[in-house]
Amino acid sequence: MKKLQNFINGNYCDPCSGEYIDNFEPATGEVYSLIPNSNADDVQGAVTAAEQAFPIWSNMSIEERSEILVKLSQGIEARMDEFVDAESRDNGKPRSLAAHVDIPRAVSNFHFFATAILHYASESHNMVGVGVNYTLRKPIGIVGCISPWNLPLYLFSWKIAPALAAGNCVIAKPSEVTPYTAYLLGEVAKEAGMPPGVLNILHGEGGSVGDAIVKHPKIKAISFTGGTNTGEYIARTAAPMFKKLSLELGGKNPNIIFADCDFDEMLSTTLRSSFANQGQICLCGSRIFVQREIYDRFKAAFVDRVSKTVVSNPQDPKAKLGAVVSKPHMEKVLSYVELAKEEGGTVLTGGERVILDAPYDKGYFLRPTVIEGLDFKCRTNQEEIFGPVVTITPFDTEEEVLEMANSTQYGLSATLWTSNLKRAHRMANELDAGIVWINAWLVRDLRTPFGGTKSSGVGREGGWEALRFFTEAKNVFVKY
Ligand code: NDP
Repeated sequence: MKKLQNFINGNYCDPCSGEYIDNFEPATGEVYSLIPNSNADDVQGAVTAAEQAFPIWSNMSIEERSEILVKLSQGIEARMDEFVDAESRDNGKPRSLAAHVDIPRAVSNFHFFATAILHYASESHNMVGVGVNYTLRKPIGIVGCISPWNLPLYLFSWKIAPALAAGNCVIAKPSEVTPYTAYLLGEVAKEAGMPPGVLNILHGEGGSVGDAIVKHPKIKAISFTGGTNTGEYIARTAAPMFKKLSLELGGKNPNIIFADCDFDEMLSTTLRSSFANQGQICLCGSRIFVQREIYDRFKAAFVDRVSKTVVSNPQDPKAKLGAVVSKPHMEKVLSYVELAKEEGGTVLTGGERVILDAPYDKGYFLRPTVIEGLDFKCRTNQEEIFGPVVTITPFDTEEEVLEMANSTQYGLSATLWTSNLKRAHRMANELDAGIVWINAWLVRDLRTPFGGTKSSGVGREGGWEALRFFTEAKNVFVKY
């Protein structure tokens, strides 16, 4: 069985503990590789390597650094099939999704920040007759990047790329549930000419190796994407050490549908925004609010389309949904369906496990689920389920839907369907969300700020926001 290794100081190596954790294939429920069970000793090894590499990497010309990162992006592209297979097998997502979204986006992330850094400039402030201030933007030093399992390489690279482009050395940890593409990345980085110690990739459990990254005094910034509870723990641990923190956390996003929308476009996009990646995208719109005039029409058309959605093994080109990521996660999602029933909800379609033919008969497949009849304040409508489960709720007025949409602790994204221009702007202004899509979903421009409000996080990723996060501003004043 394949044993993955850590990537430290430009080389693959075994974890200091000598121990490994099982890595399950969600589509079959079988163990298919072993992951290093790393701990604080591995983090120390990576920090030592990064300390030695930092003067080399941070003093390299921007053009040279950019060239290495462009090569890294091209290196992933050149091995597209291998990365796509690994991502789909590790996560359970349809291969077609990994091929069209996950891996191409990882390629773009590296390419985007490799070239962005060439155009990154800092400010100067002239004081007439007095002098001039100029701001230097220096890399922070060693930074930690911790990412979740839902979009493994996509989110891993979304952090690592700007951190490296800005001149930092990185200690990165992918989710223990989906380590494979991060493992492959070390090889590509080496081939791209990245100096040893600049990028270090450690595998293992969040509570041990993740925690050791957060606590290490020489790791000066933490960029984290994951659950709100983990984010809260990280904030509590890192704050007394005055580390810079970027936290991208959970969501419970509203999808608000007005009667005057383009119905067909809304319907097909709502299928995606509800169930793409088995509903395991932090931006999925899991609470669908529909204006009463079209509620019955929407319900009939949506439930019909959802009930015909193909759930199949990730290799099947017809699969729209694959497996959810793990057995515990599948059980968590199913427990929310039971909770919804207890709270008075009616399951209109789905709500159960799908058993496929062997060898996928032990896989974690769930039918996409639509529930109605729930109060907007109930737990099903307030807590993040992060699976293929949506609720539908009617509304009459803008005021009413705003109250329901803004009622959760989260504030990541919102989707709005209307052809009324004034209403679109009015609502966008009032929604508690870091990202609002109007008549669209998941259209991403890598230059725009990305992140959430309330319990959905602190800070923004993307474009200059990310490069600002991964640099320290130093103002210099010169007297005339
Ligand atoms: P977790 O918070 O469980 O884990 C995220 C990462 O943190 C994993 O690598 C995990 O390691 C690690 N980790 C866990 N505990 C600690 C710790 N004490 N110290 C340091 N690191 C730790 O989230 P999930 O992986 O379950 O991801 C799903 C969550 O991510 C959802 O809530 C989702 O909304 C959110 N998310 C947010 C996004 C955003 O941009 N706002 C985007 C995508 C997802 P391990 O896996 O080994 O436990």
